[in-house]
Amino acid sequence: MSAPMQRYMENAEGRDFNLVIVGGGITGCAVAYEAASRGLTVCLLEKGDFGGATSAATSKEIHGGLRYLKNREFKLVRESLRERRILANIAPNLVHPLAHLMPLYGISSWERAAMHGALTLYDLLSYDRAKAWDPVKRIPAHRMLSASEALSLEPGIRPQGLSCAAVYYDCQSLMPERLTLAFLQSALKHGARAANYAKVEGLLGQKNGRVVGVQARDLLSGRELEVRGGLVINCAGPWADLVLQKAGLEAAHELRRSEGIHVVTRPLVRSHGVTRVYREGGHFFVLPWRGHSLIGTTDQDYAGDPDHYQVRAESILALLEKVNEGFGFGDLELDDVLYAYGGLRPLVEDQTKGTYQTSRRYEVTDHGASGLEGLITVEGGKYTTSRGLAEQVAGLIAGKLGKEISPCISSREFLAGCRAPDLSAFLSSAPERLAGADPATALTLSHLYGQEAESVWELSQDDPQLARPLNPDGEILAQVVYAARREMARTLCDILLRRTGLGSLGHPGQEVLSAVARVAARELGWDQDRQEEEIRQAEAALKVPGKEVA
Ligand SMILES: Cc1cc2nc3c(=O)[nH]c(=O)nc-3n(C[C@H](O)[C@H](O)[C@H](O)COP(=O)(O)OP(=O)(O)OC[C@H]3O[C@@H](n4cnc5c(N)ncnc54)[C@H](O)[C@@H]3O)c2cc1C
Repeated sequence: MSAPMQRYMENAEGRDFNLVIVGGGITGCAVAYEAASRGLTVCLLEKGDFGGATSAATSKEIHGGLRYLKNREFKLVRESLRERRILANIAPNLVHPLAHLMPLYGISSWERAAMHGALTLYDLLSYDRAKAWDPVKRIPAHRMLSASEALSLEPGIRPQGLSCAAVYYDCQSLMPERLTLAFLQSALKHGARAANYAKVEGLLGQKNGRVVGVQARDLLSGRELEVRGGLVINCAGPWADLVLQKAGLEAAHELRRSEGIHVVTRPLVRSHGVTRVYREGGHFFVLPWRGHSLIGTTDQDYAGDPDHYQVRAESILALLEKVNEGFGFGDLELDDVLYAYGGLRPLVEDQTKGTYQTSRRYEVTDHGASGLEGLITVEGGKYTTSRGLAEQVAGLIAGKLGKEISPCISSREFLAGCRAPDLSAFLSSAPERLAGADPATALTLSHLYGQEAESVWELSQDDPQLARPLNPDGEILAQVVYAARREMARTLCDILLRRTGLGSLGHPGQEVLSAVARVAARELGWDQDRQEEEIRQAEAALKVPGKEVA
């Protein structure tokens, strides 16, 4: 069993770290793991919950980014394809290959050949895709299909005008929130410290302009704390420029924010992610996910304060309209939406292009060049490339600190809890390892918690209520106990949306919500008022904007 995650704010040691990381999205957590596993001391501070912002708003794709080939971003695509393979290797329980079917309507034979050419290039750029640690993670090459072959695979797609289709592969992350957590847990395993609900409110500076740490506030207790470090790494995603403003700096390039939303509905596809690319630009997809469909996404400039961002009913209706136009799944309405979520892409490029064309490249800025030594900003990028980005940043960090670091292990070792070298054997042994569990529970716990599944299941052994399946995935109240005791969950939303999947298929029903809140209250010492407030906040987070509550 792994050690429980300790929240730094209650366990502050007053020592100096090599790195203080601002932001616990995938970028911050990957940098924390990379640095800690190579011998540096690290403290990571996150103002919300770990992985709860942009990193929870993804399409759950771990992908090369086929469409970036159009912009000739070959380097980005190659790097993403390499990282896709690495993530499927190091987190085999959480990252799986997914076949994508792209129906092509009214296209000429030349356009068909062009698509075949682009997909051949995509295959070539992932030349190492068969070098998976586990054969089940090997990714096949693409193939072109006739219209009738495509319809036999996915009968729900619109048949009118269908010329042909392509099948290609990427990976899907079962639960990006837990993948981000696995990076953080890997960092903690190597000695890093971290706290959620710890907001960086200012940077500590010396007279010579050097940044030497941060001023943080514990949002749970109100306590203020200075955390000192040799370098401060700003990994605040769409807030990165706001963190820089605390140091009186503007971002090197103006940071743009683009909104993207997704909705979850009843299952519309069988087993392929269906992607529709529009001639006028843009693409939409319907992906199979946890027995449901995940539909996305939009790409719209967002000019407001990132703290006030919320999915709006208009955005959902606009997405449904596009999907109704382009797919043959019937007329989806707001009532069909079970859950909606969105986020802001931090994009680093000039303002001359629409957000859809803007590069998903990342950018690393050493503010020493503008007279502020000790501060590095890491912005932009994709979830998929975060580990690789962290590996690159580690070199820069070591140079700045003047320290020798040990070789990179993050591409070679399983993430914390994810050691399942033979996934099929691991999953088929689940009913045996979790003796007495419902088969769905055994499978889901094995996927979500990997090696820790047994520790979660054991928590239910003295209390049958904790073992009762609550949803079709077989999730159980023992996960709530585990989240509170061992995974630093502090709110009901942390539990429903980021430690378990109890909330991300939509409102789990009043009975389940109350049961989860009762267990959380007992574990986290909430009084009746706090419990009711947590339920109110969870109801607000689970509500589909514009949809009447049944
Ligand atoms: C709609 C959408 C779909 C996407 N789909 C994909 C996809 O399918 N595949 C893919 O690879 N990529 C995808 N991406 C991109 C990917 O989500 C991002 O590149 C990635 O999540 C960025 O991670 P981050 O850690 O930099 O930012 P974030 O996850 O936003 O993390 C930054 C963190 O900093 C914290 N913070 C901010 N200010 C402070 C402060 N003062 N003190 C402490 N903490 C602070 C925030 O609370 C936040 O948690 C998608 C993005 C969007 C928006």
